[in-house]
Amino acid sequence: MATFLRVLILEDQPDDCILMLRELQREGFTPDWQRVETESEYLALLQSDFDLILSDYSLPQFDALRALQLAREQALDIPFIIVSGTISEEIAVECMKNGAADYLMKDRLMRLGPAVTHALREKQLREEKRQAEAALRESEMRFALAIRGANDGLWDAKFTPDKPWNDPDTPVYYSPRFKALLEYQDYEFGNQLRSWIACLHPEDCDRVMRTLTAHLKEQVPYNIEYRLRTKSGRYLWVSGHGQALWNEEGCPIRMAGSIRDVSERKWGEEVLQRAYGALELRVQERTAELAQANEDLRKSEERHRSLARNFPNGIVALFDRDLRYTLAEGAGLSQLGFSKAMLEGRSIEEVWPPETRAIIEERYRAALAGKATVTEISYNDQVHLVYVLPLTSGQGETYAGMMMTQDITARIEVERLKEELMAMVSHELRTPLTSLRGFSELLLQKEFSPEQQRRFLSIIQQESTRLAELVNDFLDLRRMEVGHQIFHCEAIDIEGLLRERVNMLPSVDGKLFIRLVAPSSIAPVWADGDRIRQVLANLLSNAMKYSPHGGEVTVGVRQEDTEVIVWVADQGIGIPPVALPKLFSKFFRVDNEQTKKIRGTGLGLALVKEIIEEHQGRVWVESELGKGSTFFFSLPVATQFLPESSPVALAANG
Ligand code: ADP
Repeated sequence: MATFLRVLILEDQPDDCILMLRELQREGFTPDWQRVETESEYLALLQSDFDLILSDYSLPQFDALRALQLAREQALDIPFIIVSGTISEEIAVECMKNGAADYLMKDRLMRLGPAVTHALREKQLREEKRQAEAALRESEMRFALAIRGANDGLWDAKFTPDKPWNDPDTPVYYSPRFKALLEYQDYEFGNQLRSWIACLHPEDCDRVMRTLTAHLKEQVPYNIEYRLRTKSGRYLWVSGHGQALWNEEGCPIRMAGSIRDVSERKWGEEVLQRAYGALELRVQERTAELAQANEDLRKSEERHRSLARNFPNGIVALFDRDLRYTLAEGAGLSQLGFSKAMLEGRSIEEVWPPETRAIIEERYRAALAGKATVTEISYNDQVHLVYVLPLTSGQGETYAGMMMTQDITARIEVERLKEELMAMVSHELRTPLTSLRGFSELLLQKEFSPEQQRRFLSIIQQESTRLAELVNDFLDLRRMEVGHQIFHCEAIDIEGLLRERVNMLPSVDGKLFIRLVAPSSIAPVWADGDRIRQVLANLLSNAMKYSPHGGEVTVGVRQEDTEVIVWVADQGIGIPPVALPKLFSKFFRVDNEQTKKIRGTGLGLALVKEIIEEHQGRVWVESELGKGSTFFFSLPVATQFLPESSPVALAANG
């Protein structure tokens, strides 16, 4: 394809001009040409856009060197080829020096085509080079501007393969901004790694080096905040980022990065951290104060609770306005069959049976209305004095109530005993004393027949014996209660002892029969024979005394493992069930029409109980009102108390 070519020809010979054009066409160019002969013509056209200038060396008023000079003055890069009739080597060199692309002789015009092609090619290369250089300049300028304009300080390190990366001599480019951040002038800061190392904060140095090493060795991201000392000696917090380049062996060859001043944020964070630390300290102090206060409160509550817990013989309880217990303590809890858990958090409906609750509720409500009360309440076979008080705030408002109970069962029992004792003394002592005094006075004052005297004296004897027994019973009981009674236990043939006792009974009238039911193979018991005789005497005397209409009295014995059980059964008046639990208490007597007629002290069964329990035995009764009663007691088999080999020496029926 023909190449269009705009050609300016400096030639005074038109024929030569034609020849040149022909050569160009031969080379494949389509020339659009203009011919000039003078400097002025040349200058007039020089502005135009020509691809090629062909010039004769010497023209009548002009020459090629001058033309070259003019083109150069106008900074035109148009391939300039000299086509001359004759030209010396020196001139040719001179022309080439002045910018001619080539020269050739008119008689060798066939070289023109290739020379033009070559010159155009060279111009194109020059053009490309110019453009590349311009682009490079542009890019460099942009880069320089970017570096100058960047807020971040930039750096670029080149590593030497045979040296460690952190060699202080490692060359590093630090951007002006980098240096400015550290308050250095461009020329003041070195261009080796040592300049940067010297600025590292001693506390951060290790961490930064480790992070960089990790990036360069393990290729993990390099992104770290650390401190750098500025020229004035203050420290700057910077955020450092960077990226290395590695060769095929994985060795770092170069690394570029940046630092950004984050001091403001860091100091802000630090201030915040300090404020937070101060706050945390305050919170800790407050928490400690609170814990101390709680501890004090807990101790104080514990003190109160322990006071309440050790409240003897009763309960201390607090209740709120909903009649719900908020605290319950005291030794009396378990005595009443309660536990803390059964009361605390529960309302009175959940705690007390209806009849007790009615009284309690009334007293509690009175307390919440500000009125204190004291009431005697029977509960669980116990008698309690119940104090109910209002709890009032400093402003005089009653916000809760307090109950304190005091078990007065024992006191009441003592009072009962006192009354019983008085009754007994007044009756059981006065009656025989009256008859003793009466009969003795009678005998002293009057004369009686021997039979009458004898009858009176036997009454006096009976009554004084009764009195002596009564006083003995009372004293025995006292001795046992205070632990002064000494027992002489030994192996006893209980069956023999029962037989002896039964046989010793005075002959009774025809209404009452005594029977002994005793197998002969009963093991000896471990007991004080005299005391067991006393027990049997009391039980047998009661059986007969409380069988006013006669009937059978059975004395029996049986063995159950290591125990021997003895019983005395009668068919007498029996005992009402309500009296059974108190039957073995001192001075207790069943109080009804039938028993009123029968004399007694209420000491016999209490004595029986004391004696049997001293023998580690048990005593109990079964009775049906109007049908009779059976009293039982148990005694331990003697073998338990003897060395295994020793023979049992019996001591009862001797
Ligand atoms: P007392 O001197 O009154 O007989 P006790 O201590 O021996 O005293 O007995 C206490 C009470 O038990 C008696 O008052 C009586 O009411 C009742 N009692 C004892 N033994 C019998 C019995 N065998 N039958 C019916 N009641 C009895």
